[in-house]
Amino acid sequence: SEMNVNTLIIGAGAAGMMCAAHAGPGTLVVDHAKAAGEKIRISGGGRCNFTNLHASPANFISQNPHFCKSALKRYSQWDFMALVDQHNIPWHEKTLGQLFCDTSAKDIIAMLRAEMDKVGAQLWLQSDVGKIDHDGSSFQVQLTRDGRETDIQARNLVVACGGKSIPKMGATGLGYQIAARFDLPVVAPRAGLVPLTFGDDRFKPLAGTATPARVSAGTASFDEAILFTHRGLSGPAVLQASSYWQEGDSITLNLTPQGSLLSFLQDQRRSQGRKALTTVLGNVLPGRLVDFLRTDLALTGNIADQSDAQLGTLCESLQNWTLTPGGSEGYRTAEVTLGGVDTDALSSKTMGAKSVDGLYFIGECVDVTGWLGGYNFQWAWSSGWAAGRDIAQR
Ligand code: FAD
Repeated sequence: SEMNVNTLIIGAGAAGMMCAAHAGPGTLVVDHAKAAGEKIRISGGGRCNFTNLHASPANFISQNPHFCKSALKRYSQWDFMALVDQHNIPWHEKTLGQLFCDTSAKDIIAMLRAEMDKVGAQLWLQSDVGKIDHDGSSFQVQLTRDGRETDIQARNLVVACGGKSIPKMGATGLGYQIAARFDLPVVAPRAGLVPLTFGDDRFKPLAGTATPARVSAGTASFDEAILFTHRGLSGPAVLQASSYWQEGDSITLNLTPQGSLLSFLQDQRRSQGRKALTTVLGNVLPGRLVDFLRTDLALTGNIADQSDAQLGTLCESLQNWTLTPGGSEGYRTAEVTLGGVDTDALSSKTMGAKSVDGLYFIGECVDVTGWLGGYNFQWAWSSGWAAGRDIAQR
């Protein structure tokens, strides 16, 4: 059978649903999953970290750091918070400006579904996308649903099918294929916000230990918790740094980012000279970590036995610990996919492809990737709004 719509949106995730709520009449959203917004449902430990009070262009990674500015400004965290309040969804700030639902991430999904219903947007689930054609004025998309094929004619086609992260949840990378189909460049996708691994089990004795640290990769540094795992390193500071890390690069850990470690140790040498060095270090680091480092850093004797030079070397080891991860856990556990449709090919105001009238890319499939902390959803809301708004005004 055949069907005519004004706008076809592929992907009923965060960006696709937001876009549908603003794209005006005649909108159909299709998704191969059983339910809309599955990533929203599992996000933020089931409470969805839906935005961040401090969201600004500086929290996003892209080959063109300016691209995200317009959309973030026109539909900001304050706009999304107003929508959440309008739906009477209770929320709270957890830490670092991160906003979470008090009750459940399902509140956000229900809100988006209600906004779609309000404008009469249709939703088809368990629909597989087949061939996509374009005849200059409209798009033809083959869909299979319940074993039946439907050819959709659409004036606008919005690609909102996310990235490659967590294939178990239905991520396919279809967005990149559609971009290639229309000769749009794609910045090579790679896993972001992902635990780093070392190809060995060196940190196994420490698995489960968390401690605050400053993790640096490339030009970026993050002060948050790190977590040692059987396979390597995780925790928010490592996840954040992983988005700036490339295969072959080293990362640096500063295990005592607050205050001067050297003056603390010198002070202890003066006042607590008969304490074992490991005991003194136990005041600033987890005991298991001190045990782990004992041999490598020759942590023997009392603090009084340490010369200034020895303390200096020790501080350097603890504050400038350089490690070269062998890899990452990859898309299996990555919270996000870096790279994506090259922003050079898109309008920053509308998310429309410059070379194909009526074709839009929004959300994670675009080469704009947020930090950990609600930024990725904010990009989905802002870019989805920008495309929807443009379509409604065409
Ligand atoms: P998605 O929300 O992934 O939606 C894409 C949709 O397209 C899906 O419904 C999918 O089924 C559909 N689709 C894919 N391929 C096809 C296909 N071939 N045919 C048809 N449909 C298809 N970000 C935050 O800001 N805060 C958080 O708290 C947070 N927590 C997260 C927790 C986890 C475990 C993960 C994995 C991610 C988390 N993120 C979080 C990131 C955030 O979920 C994504 O950045 C965001 O969902 C991207 O929105 P999107 O609409 O572009 O893609």
